[in-house]
Amino acid sequence: MTSRPPASALSSANDALAGPSDWLAARHLGSNADEVAAMLKVTGHASLEALVDEAVPEAIRLRRPLALPAALGEREGVARLRSLSEKNQLFRTYIGTGYHDCIVPPVIQRNVLENPAWYTSYTPYQAEISQGRLEALLNFQTLVSDLTGMEVANASLLDEATAAAEAMAMAFHLRKNDGARLFVLSHLAHPQIVEVVQTRAKPLGIAVLVTDVFKDAALIDASVFGLLLQYPATDGSLLSYDAPIAKAKEAGALVVVAADLLALTVLRPPGEFGADIVLGNSQRFGVPLGYGGPHAAFFATKDEYKRSMPGRLIGVSKDAQGNHALRLSLQTREQHIRREKATSNICTAQALLANMASFYAVWHGPEGLRRIAARVHLLAKALAEGLRRAGYALGEAPFFDTLHVFPAAGETVDGLMARAVAAGINLRTLDAGLPTRSLAISLNETTTPADIDALLALFSPKTPLTFDALKESPGLDAAFPAAFARQGAILTHPVFNRHHTETEFLRYVRHLELKDISLATSMIPLGSCTMKLNATSEMLAVTFPGFSKLHPFVPVEQAQGYAELFAELEGWLAEITGFAAVSLQPNAGSQGEYAGLLAIRDYHLSKGEGNRHVCIIPTSAHGTNPASAAMAGFKVVAVACDAEGNIDIADLRAKAEAHKADLAALMVTYPSTFGVFEEGIVEICRIVHAAGGQVYMDGANMNAQVGLCRPGDIGADVCHLNLHKTFAIPHGGGGPGVGPIGVAAHLKPFLPSHSVIGNGTSGKSGAVSSAPWGSASILPISWAYIAMLGGSGVTEATKLAILNANYIARRLENHFPVLFRGHGNLVAHECIIDLRGWKKAGIEVEDVAKRLIDYGFHAPTMSWPVPGTLMIEPTESESKEELDRFCDAMLSIHGEIEAVASGQADPKDNVLKNAPHTAVVVCGDAWDRPYTREQAAFPLPWLRTHKVWSPVGRVDNVYGDRNLICSCLPVDAYV
Ligand SMILES: *Cc1c(COP(=O)(O)O)cnc(C)c1O
Repeated sequence: MTSRPPASALSSANDALAGPSDWLAARHLGSNADEVAAMLKVTGHASLEALVDEAVPEAIRLRRPLALPAALGEREGVARLRSLSEKNQLFRTYIGTGYHDCIVPPVIQRNVLENPAWYTSYTPYQAEISQGRLEALLNFQTLVSDLTGMEVANASLLDEATAAAEAMAMAFHLRKNDGARLFVLSHLAHPQIVEVVQTRAKPLGIAVLVTDVFKDAALIDASVFGLLLQYPATDGSLLSYDAPIAKAKEAGALVVVAADLLALTVLRPPGEFGADIVLGNSQRFGVPLGYGGPHAAFFATKDEYKRSMPGRLIGVSKDAQGNHALRLSLQTREQHIRREKATSNICTAQALLANMASFYAVWHGPEGLRRIAARVHLLAKALAEGLRRAGYALGEAPFFDTLHVFPAAGETVDGLMARAVAAGINLRTLDAGLPTRSLAISLNETTTPADIDALLALFSPKTPLTFDALKESPGLDAAFPAAFARQGAILTHPVFNRHHTETEFLRYVRHLELKDISLATSMIPLGSCTMKLNATSEMLAVTFPGFSKLHPFVPVEQAQGYAELFAELEGWLAEITGFAAVSLQPNAGSQGEYAGLLAIRDYHLSKGEGNRHVCIIPTSAHGTNPASAAMAGFKVVAVACDAEGNIDIADLRAKAEAHKADLAALMVTYPSTFGVFEEGIVEICRIVHAAGGQVYMDGANMNAQVGLCRPGDIGADVCHLNLHKTFAIPHGGGGPGVGPIGVAAHLKPFLPSHSVIGNGTSGKSGAVSSAPWGSASILPISWAYIAMLGGSGVTEATKLAILNANYIARRLENHFPVLFRGHGNLVAHECIIDLRGWKKAGIEVEDVAKRLIDYGFHAPTMSWPVPGTLMIEPTESESKEELDRFCDAMLSIHGEIEAVASGQADPKDNVLKNAPHTAVVVCGDAWDRPYTREQAAFPLPWLRTHKVWSPVGRVDNVYGDRNLICSCLPVDAYV
């Protein structure tokens, strides 16, 4: 098949029989055969094959079809996913441990989670057309700082355990000059937190002590830089942490509290009892369990530490007209600026899930949230009363929603667990670090009185009590002991108090949605980010109950549908990358980098070569590369690039030689971050291997490789993929993402593992995520993409992505210099255009980016990897018509730039400098600009029917950083 045939090609019986459901490949690709031919005429190639032969170096070309199954029809693919989801067994599950079933309000499920306007948008770097999701994220920050009692909260991290590891790193760096290297965790922290913290501590040279912080408070001395407490503790107990916190303060250590967000609606917030950092999982605020994710972790701290905080931070600033406008703040903290000096490698976070959690709070409001919390607590108290009466001993401390239960005389934990499983109920066993084995039962928003009856019948089958019989018991109310009860109001801001009817709420969601550009509006040509189609049929399975309602720590026998899906997806990704094994655990590209580098580190250690600690990284690399390398304990050595954007091989050879004894790895992106198929890549890998190093390939650009060449064949030892780029998972407005790694056979033993579910995962390098398979519930999207397109479809997609990029390069090259081309003067799947030539006329790349908004487009990647340029990546799924519309806009803007450069237009007061133009400005009674309103708003004819109005004028970045406000304004500024 060469792309979609025109309708008239339905000539053979086979074509006629194929029927509409077999057309996903065709619908995924933007152009049909006629349009492909027209584009090839512009690039000057006889066929798509000829173009690809010229662009991709023959030495690395895969000259056989991928060994993947043939394309499944769209309906067959969805049916297969449904049957896989039905192989997962949905027990009543009370495992807790930071994950709780909850009710996703249907209005949020349909209008946010399942709405392409929310899930296909990009990270809000272009603030003007991201005001909707920026406001939702600001609500999230406000929610978190309010409930935690902290001054400033970020816009999400990847999961609770990595947030805890980030907190450790932050505390470590804040204290780094006085030699304290010990991080203490309460033995009552969730096990996945302990495990990920241990993984992340090792390469940083941090010692971790997991202990009873009450008994061993004396150990919290000057050698300790941080203390982590769980609130409520993992066994459910509500403990007063005053004593260990006082010790920590005395020692000058930072206090980190991992907390439950729902509990905080009714409990005293950690900000009131001495926490310096509060983190946790916001999943139970209306986000499906999804067998582990994706969910948004939260992270809050004191104002004095905000510059050390990991993750994205939304702030309030003003626009060109002086109105309030939102934007990303303090970006200089982030990996793309600080590189190997960064203390966190976070790039993609969990924006969509943070938005869902914030909408859940907007929907329920303070009273609704407290009612949910009170109800769970009351049910837990009733269950506790029933269990006590049935002769069970419970933990002594007060609790919120989790009971700590000891087996009665003559019973064992295993016996009770077996009885529970037989009744279709999952409980949790508690053993790690505790004197006797026992059980925990965590209740949640979905728990009913009938569930309490079923649990009581399980524990006391002969004389079961019921909720009804218990509810009149004395003391059975939703109150807490005074020491723990929260005083004062929560969430008083109007946004949490006015959208409580469905009509109002729906309109609020829509009001925000309409401010933003997403793929539902127009193409988002972001270089390196691969904003391709996220087909609806690929998305459907995310909310199938069998996938969405599974707790990550259920026995693996109950998750056989997922097991089958993981095995198939891992196999397909291994075939696509040419590797021996794949781990699906990392939650984003940055986490894949970290996991891959850890595998390399542990491999060297296993050979007695722990001295290998140098990581060579080209200067052009993405900021996550050096940041991940530093977190993995490597020393970064930069290698230069030549004028063509290729790695300077002589420089590489010299550095590899110089570090022969201590070289650990090279990190290299392929095709390069400049969008070129480097000819020297095989040689580069050889040089590194000869010096004893391993090759880490950053696979963010895999969309140019699938089916044409494979990292494993080229010489890489490990490579991460961004499933949210190449494999059709939507970008979510800044997450979720999935960053699996593929490894060659010798690294397989060093893949991530997970102790909570035992040996279900493959390696032994420790856990890098909270959940064994990371963001499991979005893996069906990538499964569907590969299954429905098949081996030939995904290969065709790669070819068309390369054609589209070269078509754009050819259409723009006479007006904008196109930087960096490879063999045959061709680019790979993206192209960089240079705007620096107009700097002397006062025109900056930002002016062009903002002017594109007036034309209805999201700007390409700005000033990366080269300052003053735009990197354009069209992907295979944009049509020729859309590519032409974008090119026409760019050419029209070129004319506008030239008018300024030639002195025809005013150097300051022109369409570019004043962009974007809001409707308020264009329609205002006063108009004193040297250009017309029509030139401002409708510079090309098709805008008359396709106008996107920017909701705000150009946002002032400097003002926002100088006057930092990171929660909703006290007055409602957005009416
Ligand atoms: C996107 C990207 C990354 C980081 O991936 P995340 O999923 O955002 O963590 C790393 N390298 C390159 C080249 C990228 O484009």
